[in-house]
Amino acid sequence: MSSIETLPLLLKQLGLPSMLAQWESLAQTAQDKQWSPGAYLAQLCEHEAAGRYQKRVARYTKEAKLPSGKTLSTFDFAATKQVKKAQIEALAENGSWVRQANNVIIFGPSGVGKTHLAAAIGHGLIAQGVRVLFTSTTALVQKLQVAKQQYKLSEALAKLARIPLLILDDIGYVKKTEMETSTLFELIADRYESSSLLITANQPFSEWDSIFPDNMMTVAAVDRLIHHASVISIIEKSYRQTQANEAGLLLADKHA
Ligand code: ADP
Ligand code: MG
Repeated sequence: MSSIETLPLLLKQLGLPSMLAQWESLAQTAQDKQWSPGAYLAQLCEHEAAGRYQKRVARYTKEAKLPSGKTLSTFDFAATKQVKKAQIEALAENGSWVRQANNVIIFGPSGVGKTHLAAAIGHGLIAQGVRVLFTSTTALVQKLQVAKQQYKLSEALAKLARIPLLILDDIGYVKKTEMETSTLFELIADRYESSSLLITANQPFSEWDSIFPDNMMTVAAVDRLIHHASVISIIEKSYRQTQANEAGLLLADKHA
């Protein structure tokens, strides 16, 4: 039988840092509360699992580059009639749509909360153990274009494919130069039915001809995106403007 002196070393060798940190204090608790050996071991394992979960969430959060503070709890659902709280919660709290490689597209004019919602869904999914990457579409297209010029596009796409949810913010801002937009098309085609995209857009599909070089490519891109997708359309006034107006009204009231 192994002696207890070897336990710290064994826990270290086995890569169980939380168990290593807690086994002694928990052993005291176990004695005080007269836990069975099995209950003690289960508690210790729970600490290890919780420690791993926290580390993974921290790692995924750092990797995702989501705008901070834009979470479900800071989104005011009362301020918008078109965004259904239950629908957003379902997307943020259940990663099954990402496992099925489905897409989400959020449409709406500037300032209505598209980026906030996209980030909130991302934060929620990280807590469910889903890897996420948030990026402005323009920045990503520029990176892919550089990769293409260096004949490394498929490598770059393969690296992105390892991240099950890619959030492309503001697809409509991509410049319509053939090189850039065909890279965007290649990204969409590469992820089709294999990994998810969450896209925010300030123009409806009917205006996406301004993003892609020709109508055929637009149709092909839209076709792939909507094949397995949830579409959220927000067509109300900017939250920023509404808040500014309300602040203005309050000021006006004071002066009245
Ligand atoms: P969009 O991406 O549609 O242009 P944003 O998501 O950037 O809009 O929203 C603009 C600002 O208003 C952000 O600071 C965002 O957090 C805030 N905002 C928008 N809608 C809401 C809302 N319903 N509740 C709380 N904050 C909101
Ligand atoms: Mg935005």
